[in-house]
Amino acid sequence: MPTRRLALAIARSLMFALVFTAPVRSAADQRLPVPPPDPAAIGAAAAAEVYLNSLSSEQKVRSDAYFEGNYWLTLWNFLWSSAVLLVLLHGGWSARLRQTAARITRRPMLQATLYWVGFITVATVLSFPLTVYAGYIREHQYGLATQDFGGWFGDQLKSFGLSVVMGGALVAVLYAVLRRSGRTWWVWASVVTSAFLALMFTVGPVYIDPIFNTYRPLRDEAVRQPILRLARANGIDATEVWEMDASKQSTRISANVSGMFGTERITLNDNLLKRGSPEAVQAVMGHEMGHYVLNHAYKMLLSFSVVVVIGFAVIGWTYPRLAERHRARWGVEGVADPAGLPLLALILGAYLFVLTPVINTIVRTNEYEADVFGLNAARQPDGFAEAALLVSDYRKLRPGPWEEAIFFDHPSGRTRIFTAMRWKAEQIPAQNRPAK
Ligand SMILES: [Zn+2]
Repeated sequence: MPTRRLALAIARSLMFALVFTAPVRSAADQRLPVPPPDPAAIGAAAAAEVYLNSLSSEQKVRSDAYFEGNYWLTLWNFLWSSAVLLVLLHGGWSARLRQTAARITRRPMLQATLYWVGFITVATVLSFPLTVYAGYIREHQYGLATQDFGGWFGDQLKSFGLSVVMGGALVAVLYAVLRRSGRTWWVWASVVTSAFLALMFTVGPVYIDPIFNTYRPLRDEAVRQPILRLARANGIDATEVWEMDASKQSTRISANVSGMFGTERITLNDNLLKRGSPEAVQAVMGHEMGHYVLNHAYKMLLSFSVVVVIGFAVIGWTYPRLAERHRARWGVEGVADPAGLPLLALILGAYLFVLTPVINTIVRTNEYEADVFGLNAARQPDGFAEAALLVSDYRKLRPGPWEEAIFFDHPSGRTRIFTAMRWKAEQIPAQNRPAK
């Protein structure tokens, strides 16, 4: 959707990036995978194969189909969003929306906000068919969703309200800066956007996440104490672990680290607590603590700020040329004209679409670091393999190397399980070796 393309896409991708998610398998699949023979004896690759082959062929077919469908959805989403933005520009809707805003108020900042409200409403409505298919119909087809349409639609309305408020604030500030900043506008636009991202990450766990789910401190001491011990052992000053009711929306197990600048917290969802073994829970927690200790939120903010600066430089080159060429039809003035917002979103969307492999690789690299950190911290390679297998319901297990590099924002199941078995082969025997 254009909204997300414009302002929240990067924010969300960063949030997703820190999330370790997996759907819960049906009751029939609840048997825990049997650990393979000692990888130090048979080799890490062979041990990983035993795990990978523990899934039925139907499970593998469904996992591949769901994940490969996402490749196409990324393309359709880009094409659909671009079409919507072009309709807004080419049909003269955008210019008319700006004129209406100008008739209502003379204050430029309010004009930009009013324009945004109209823009986001029209864009959301025009994108709705694809949103329903990707977010509701398809998720149910693959057994990943638990909400009825009413509940899902309610969450969509909340998201829309957030887009109006947060996007409205961003657009008001962004256009105020664009009106004042002359030739270096693209630098200042990048600063505003990056600051907005930092703000979103900071307030997210405290003010935004609770709009959709209930968060409360984890009470089960048998789960809580080992997690807090693991946290203290790794220098994390945590007194609380949070639990959230993700089962309200989906069947995926999940845990994440969210927040920055003092709002950091580690959250487990109820699906993980119900379905994962204690070893898998600890393995996932080790991974999440890796994100925290390795400062991934700040590193990703920095990486995405670079992506944003280059993006605005691309806009700086492309926007004036396109606006000038289609001036008669689109009625878009300079870059400080809110009526040019669809053009800005169009260029940014195309840029982010082309950059998909780069963004995935930035995120995946951090995820792999967290995997290795988690193995060292939690020392649960088999629990880690179990979690990676749980993830396989929605993430393809065995992609080709290029496929993994281009489309995967987390390591594939094969990479993760091999990494865990290699750790087990190299670490456990060393630990048992007599001291000299
Ligand atoms: Zn992660």
